[in-house]
Order: sequence, then C-alpha cells, then structure tokens
Amino acid sequence: MKIDGNCLCGHIRYEAVIDPSMVAICHCTDCQTHSGTAYGIVVGVVDQQFQLLQGTLKVYEKTADSGTIRALSFCPECGTRIHATTPGDSSKFFGLRVGTIRQRNQLKPTVQAWSGSALDWVHDLSSIPRKDQQSTSR
Ligand SMILES: [Zn+2]
Ligand SMILES: [Zn+2]
Repeated sequence: MKIDGNCLCGHIRYEAVIDPSMVAICHCTDCQTHSGTAYGIVVGVVDQQFQLLQGTLKVYEKTADSGTIRALSFCPECGTRIHATTPGDSSKFFGLRVGTIRQRNQLKPTVQAWSGSALDWVHDLSSIPRKDQQSTSR
C-alpha cells in the first residue's frame, strides 16, 4: 500500500510503501515519553520503500534498557516523530510513526508490543466520556 505523510509544520514530507497488516501499537516507556502520550503506533517499512521528499530529519540515538541503540528521527523544526531504526543494520527497517501518515485511518493495528508497560486505562477508552470538540478541562 502506497502512503504519504508529513510533520506538523510541513518541513518534512515523505512517501512509502507499507504492509497495512504490519501496524503495531508499542507500549514501551520510551515510546510513551518520546511521543508525549500513552503509546506509539508504528508500521514497518524497509529502506528502499521509504522516500524522504522534503526536509532533513534530526536524529537522536537512544540506548534502550536492552542495550540496543535506537535512532529516533524527527522534524528539527516542530519535533514531530517520523521513524525509528537500529543504526548500522545493513538492511534498514524503520518503524514509521503512523500518526504522521495521511492514510492513518485505514491503518488499524494488529498487535500490541510491550504490553507489560501499557497504562492501566488504555485498554478501555470506551469507558471515558467523549466530546466532539476540545475538552473545557484542558
Ligand atoms: Zn515539522
Ligand atoms: Zn516503543
């Protein structure tokens, strides 16, 4: 499936070919902190299937608890996370951040990783009251 995406400010634009059955939720604590929210949503994409059309990504290398280094790429202007990969691999495999993909409403996750660190309430969003617009309590 061909997809395209951009960061919040428009500095970064990309296109990629992805397998829509490879969409995953990641509940790891690094995803929680780096996204500033409850969990990450990623879809796997290999090197040649990702094309940066515009802009230059900034990279932050984070050493995970396992010792693995993850290269986290984001827009240097607005901070939107674009993808993560393991540096040095011969064949690069990116975890592309699904929230930046224009077709994201068609990409339903099929698996949840690191569920041991998932926030307690996250599995039952239906129990939280819904409003169409911004909550007045923000
Ligand atoms: Zn940006
Ligand atoms: Zn994660």
